[in-house]
Amino acid sequence: MPESAEKRIGIYVHIPFCSSKCAYCNFYSLPGGDRLMPLYNAAMLKHIEEYEPQLDGYLIDTVYIGGGTPSYYGAGRLASIFNALKRYGHVRLDSEATVEVNPGSITKDELLKLRRAGFNRLSVGVQSADDKMLKSLGRSHSYADAEETVKNARQAGFENISVDIIFGLPSQGKDTWAETIAKIASLKAEHVSCYALKIEEGTEFNVFKDSPFLPDDDEQADMYLYAVEMLARFGYRQYEVSNFSRRGFESKHNMKYWLGYEYIGFGAGAHSYIGRCRYSFIEDVEKYIERVTLGQAVVEYSEEMSDFENAGEYLMLRLRTVQGISEGEYYDIYRLKMDLILDLMKKYESSGWMVFDEGRWRFTPKGFLLSNTLIGEILDAQARQRTQISKPWQTQQPGEEPQLTLFPKRPLEAGLFGRRKPSGYD
Ligand code: SF4
Repeated sequence: MPESAEKRIGIYVHIPFCSSKCAYCNFYSLPGGDRLMPLYNAAMLKHIEEYEPQLDGYLIDTVYIGGGTPSYYGAGRLASIFNALKRYGHVRLDSEATVEVNPGSITKDELLKLRRAGFNRLSVGVQSADDKMLKSLGRSHSYADAEETVKNARQAGFENISVDIIFGLPSQGKDTWAETIAKIASLKAEHVSCYALKIEEGTEFNVFKDSPFLPDDDEQADMYLYAVEMLARFGYRQYEVSNFSRRGFESKHNMKYWLGYEYIGFGAGAHSYIGRCRYSFIEDVEKYIERVTLGQAVVEYSEEMSDFENAGEYLMLRLRTVQGISEGEYYDIYRLKMDLILDLMKKYESSGWMVFDEGRWRFTPKGFLLSNTLIGEILDAQARQRTQISKPWQTQQPGEEPQLTLFPKRPLEAGLFGRRKPSGYD
């Protein structure tokens, strides 16, 4: 592919297998689906090979293997997937290549295997530093396992590690939350993702719905703001509603989602966004295997995004980041005005929920807390604004991809992985 035609893309690979089901989880994952793993891997390798023509127009600069529990799937299979991407796509040598791992489900040898295969970032599902909380969450590891996994990952050569933690757990007080943050900081990871527990229907935790054992809204808000403040003191800068990192260690892959850039997903239930189209594959492992093997269609849902929907996504996704939005950028990309949105954002500014800084609007930590509601109001204002435009809808002008602030586009100075034959583990 000529350098002048450089277009970048992220790859997401979904591994929907776990050792057991956590009490709060409503993701699509199969506890103990081991017998399907070799078949799933063979189907995925075939699927990636079939995508060679689509991948040919792009440079892959991020790869993210998520789940499920990819570490439970096995380092050999994960390496075979990465090798297939290197063979059938153009993977930059300096790509950010992440694997999600759960403490206790990966050995030092397997971490070494992942590192040698080219993965350079780990996302470790620690969730809590309190063993009682971990047990109530249905996690199959202890905090000591998490410490061990991070230590082994360092020894295996991983220099970019992220840890996930959850707050708002049943019976979780501010003390246990403060202790979790302090212990997490002592792991010295480069990145922390900090999520509020959501009680989902169909999970074991649904019994806690409206329960007095859950921290109330005010307590949850305090926990969130405490985390923002303490993580900043430990050197983690907030760059998205739930994400914090040391400078330069923001997740490049996740930033693609929030900035509306293209990505291709592989695996059951995986989503893609390419051209103006969003689509997802069938969320059923057995059907995914069967259809890919027989060469049948696996797309379950697809949608061609209109200009107006893309503009809504710009507002919705970029406002999740500290980069925020700008009137000029919005107009340049979508040829739309944002007068009504500006009125609203000025109100938020006077409430301390937003700031206007260097020409861009972004939420404060207090605003991030309310961001679901506030973004909903902003989208309503966008819809009202649309009815006020005197000109008919104008389509997006062909032009340059909007520049990222956090990750400015750089010329292709890195090489590509050699297009080797995948090892074909299974
Ligand atoms: S390990 Fe993750 S995906 Fe699997 S059940 Fe637990 S929370 Fe869900």
